[in-house]
Amino acid sequence: MSIQELYDQVLEMYREKTVLNQVAGLVGWDYETMMPNKAVEQRGGMMAFLSKLEHQMSTDPKLGELLDSIEGSDDYSGLSDIERRNILLVRRTYDKSTKIPVELVVERSKLSATAIDVWQKAKENNDWKLFEPYLEKMVALMKKTAHHLDAEKDPYNVLLDFFEPGMDMDQYDTLFAELRDGTIDLINKINNSSVEVNRDLISKKVSTPIQEKLMDELISVIGYDMNGGRLDVAAHPFTGGPGYDDVRITTRYDEYDFASSFFSVAHEGGHGIYEQFVSPDYRYQPIGEACSMGMHESQSRFFENIICRSPGFWKFFFPKFKESTAGIYDDLDFDKFLRAINVVRSSKIRVEADEVTYNLHIILRYEIERDLINDRIKVSEIPEVWNRMTKEYLGIDIESDSEGALQDIHWCDGAFGYFPTYSLGNIYGAQFLNTLEKEMPDWEDKVKNGDIKSIRLWLNEKVHHEGNLYDPADLVEKIAGEKPNVKYLLNYLNNKYSSLYKL
Ligand SMILES: [Zn+2]
Repeated sequence: MSIQELYDQVLEMYREKTVLNQVAGLVGWDYETMMPNKAVEQRGGMMAFLSKLEHQMSTDPKLGELLDSIEGSDDYSGLSDIERRNILLVRRTYDKSTKIPVELVVERSKLSATAIDVWQKAKENNDWKLFEPYLEKMVALMKKTAHHLDAEKDPYNVLLDFFEPGMDMDQYDTLFAELRDGTIDLINKINNSSVEVNRDLISKKVSTPIQEKLMDELISVIGYDMNGGRLDVAAHPFTGGPGYDDVRITTRYDEYDFASSFFSVAHEGGHGIYEQFVSPDYRYQPIGEACSMGMHESQSRFFENIICRSPGFWKFFFPKFKESTAGIYDDLDFDKFLRAINVVRSSKIRVEADEVTYNLHIILRYEIERDLINDRIKVSEIPEVWNRMTKEYLGIDIESDSEGALQDIHWCDGAFGYFPTYSLGNIYGAQFLNTLEKEMPDWEDKVKNGDIKSIRLWLNEKVHHEGNLYDPADLVEKIAGEKPNVKYLLNYLNNKYSSLYKL
């Protein structure tokens, strides 16, 4: 068989797996949005069957043989760059799927189901000790998993690379130390500012139907394509569905906090736009997927924070907002409003954190995970370390573990290495902004005039179209001219908040 025939067979297997994933995406979206309560067990059966099929396809020995033949072929260099990238990406997922023994995969999903259950009870009753043995088991299991993936490497580095290809502790340590110190400096300045911010100004009741209309406007302004998408309600907002021409976003409405759904739609809209604008030429190929978790987060946060929380955006959108909210906010002052949606206030809870303090929540989790996987701290010590770091970084006292070390679900599932990608998204995004400023010096004027489309098209070309042609740090370098660098995020935050808080 020629190398081209071997390659075509690999791509055909990938295409079938993609179709299966599209089905699973639709079923999963329905589970979160539309499914009647009664169907939980039945749906569980459907989803388990689909993931069994997916596992079979991902670990098919025929795929391994094809990959071996292609990589070992004398004609390998005859494949194009794109073809070789596709093979590399298939190889990565094939190795990840086959190196981990099935027993470990099954054990993890069982343990994770129990751990979530126990975690919920522990959180309700502020009882860390209850959760401790399950988390201990999960840490041990993930270390074993990492060992199977790469016995030579430090286990936490293996897990970090799993979520963000190419990243390791050395890089994160450097990036996060600078980000932590710079952020703490900025927060200290903000705390000493005489500017008063009143968040209550924007907590007037806005009914769900009015909010829904507001979201329609927001969506059309940022350029999320409703012809290839939907907006529905879900308890925990997410972006999902089959993908390609059917990328769905979700939100939830709080009638006394329109800003919560507004910025969550801007955020999920950013994720959705990324998925919608990967080059159609790459569909059903591994390069037709988004680049990484961190890159995805860079796009959601670009739309949510850099665009939709900016003064320029509201210059244009504020009158529309007043009109859409039917007189409720007629007497709202522009500057006070802008400060209210950008208030910086240290909080105990990560998901309630603002754009500035958010990264400290992430860095704290990163440092704890890193030391946990490397046996520098024990699971039983987490609450103490958590509370000490929260005091040190955010100046806040944690009184109960429910609001501290028990607040997030991520560790129940063994997702060590996932948290740091959130802050990477902020780092990448600020580097893209810096490049945008150079390549489109009037970008802010464009935003002020409601022309978000130009910015969206720029991101489409630079980031979205590229799909998974590059690893994240390489894509950042291609766009911004250098590898991930915290400097730009700190500059962006310092400029924005110096002006808002008159520092
Ligand atoms: Zn996100």
